[in-house]
Amino acid sequence: MGILVVGTVTLDTVETPSERVEDVLGGSGVYAAVAASFFRRDIQLVGVIGADFPDPYTDFLETQGIDLRGLKRVDNGKSFRWGGRYTQDFNVRDTLFTELNVIEDFQPVLPETYKDTPYLFLANNSPVLQLSIIEQATNPKLIVCDTMDFWINEERAALEALLARVDILVLNDSEALLLTGDSNLMQAAQAILRYGPKRVIIKKGEHGAISVTESSFFTAPAYPLTQVTDPTGAGDSFAGGMMGYLASIGDTSEEAIRSAMVYGAVVASFNIEDFSINRQKDVQFSEISSRYRELQEASHF
Ligand code: AMP
Repeated sequence: MGILVVGTVTLDTVETPSERVEDVLGGSGVYAAVAASFFRRDIQLVGVIGADFPDPYTDFLETQGIDLRGLKRVDNGKSFRWGGRYTQDFNVRDTLFTELNVIEDFQPVLPETYKDTPYLFLANNSPVLQLSIIEQATNPKLIVCDTMDFWINEERAALEALLARVDILVLNDSEALLLTGDSNLMQAAQAILRYGPKRVIIKKGEHGAISVTESSFFTAPAYPLTQVTDPTGAGDSFAGGMMGYLASIGDTSEEAIRSAMVYGAVVASFNIEDFSINRQKDVQFSEISSRYRELQEASHF
């Protein structure tokens, strides 16, 4: 079953303690769509880019089988640009700049062929825009959304309206605390469920991710890596991999979601081994399966 990914398509500048890259391919929509493309070849990407967006980037997405009919290019506009800097242990990231540019006036209109796609992933984006996608979708089987500090601070009311309409919210631990004002993660999870989602998945970076519903709790490990190059997009890769797996088996049960979270963690582990989506360019599905089995083995007792 197909997946509709709506998210940002950006030019990123990333600084780590040892390297700096400028205007590389990034964006929540890109990371999520590339992650999902390991599981399915019917991924549709909705987003907006400017005239400055390099063709080789869109060419790459097309070679991954990602349908770009929903990606709008604004001929007189500038692409979304984001810059971030990591500290030595990669656990802290400072946003250096967020230039919304073309997404500020973007009002996505879903192409006819996208409207009845059953799996919707609303990657990090303006909640107003995320809501407008839900309103245009005619046949959603599973709606998952992500958000981040920027939108929690800037568009709180729209975000709350969005949460009432989604099945699963995926977000970072610090964002869960920011959203609810809690200092305890489990309390934050309970508070988020009261906004409307049936499930909240909280990402904890190198410490894995937890899933909480009214009646269940699950913790998925992160794949243990000794070498991290760039964690940018790990959260989007996690969610995209998770959606890819769920759509590939056409199941949204508790058991399926648990496996999907582990697949998400595996895809994210490849993402952080290099800048941008460079590592994903040569990952084989057999490598994904192999890390999945390792995590399964490591969490069995
Ligand atoms: P993550 O590391 O999972 O937080 O994702 C980082 C990616 O999200 C980068 O490629 C950024 O270009 C993109 N990004 C940064 N800020 C935002 C924002 N406010 N909304 C949507 N995407 C963003």
